[in-house]
Amino acid sequence: MKSMSATMRRVWRRAIAVVCAVACVFAVSACGSSDEEGKIRIGIKFDQPGLGFKKSGTYVGFDVDVARYVAQELGYSEDQIIWKEAPSKQREAMLQNGDVDMILATYSITDSRKNAVSFAGPYFVAGQDLLVRRDDTSIKGPEDLNGKRLCSVTGSTSATTVKEKFANEVQLMEQPGYAECATALFSGIVDAVTTDDIILAGLASASRGKLKVVGKPFTQEYYGVGIKKGNKAFAKKINAAIAKMIKDGSWERAVKDNTRGTGYTPNAKYNPPKPTEGE
Ligand code: GLU
Repeated sequence: MKSMSATMRRVWRRAIAVVCAVACVFAVSACGSSDEEGKIRIGIKFDQPGLGFKKSGTYVGFDVDVARYVAQELGYSEDQIIWKEAPSKQREAMLQNGDVDMILATYSITDSRKNAVSFAGPYFVAGQDLLVRRDDTSIKGPEDLNGKRLCSVTGSTSATTVKEKFANEVQLMEQPGYAECATALFSGIVDAVTTDDIILAGLASASRGKLKVVGKPFTQEYYGVGIKKGNKAFAKKINAAIAKMIKDGSWERAVKDNTRGTGYTPNAKYNPPKPTEGE
């Protein structure tokens, strides 16, 4: 009696698995053949002014401009681009799952990320810095962080760097995005926000003078185009597009257009970089 019911359970489990597999195949083919055919899906940030920002249904920022240029070079017009939000923590998984074809989202090229994904680029070099309230004179650089409360984003190199370099002296609060960190800084929950200088410049500018960038970068962040692991041919095409963008002046224009009024200028020692990654 006992063994009979165990067998039955096995049979049932089997049957359910088969039904699920069939249902999945139908679901996937239904999705694939609809509105994504012939289009390129690009992951960007939606909440980083100056980089990747969703503004009443349109997308603006430096990452968006680079993405548009690259897509165009790959043969996709504007209306063939599907923009998807790629929060810091979800980028590797989105590429691994095939949710997007490429990610341009202030995405630093790192060895640990290269275990999961590949990169083309770099197309920009930023540096990790600090954002504080306008009236704060106590934080002039990373050497002043003892006893301070910091905010950064889960899954970012910025949070990892804090844990590696300042673990014993600071309290780190992690949020899903930098806009949430800026809010925590406004309200006094933290003393500083830390991430790449170009991101902080956009947030400071959006705060209309309430927040300021400290201006002492302490890392180099090489922004890459995240792609599925091992796709060397794709990396090569993207690199050629970036090189062309730099050469024809569009890169310079995109930097200027998207940082205007923020007081930010890219570090000329590293910019523009040579896009040779991933080939
Ligand atoms: N560039 C850093 C990173 O890739 C920080 C910016 C971000 O979270 O997108 O993690």
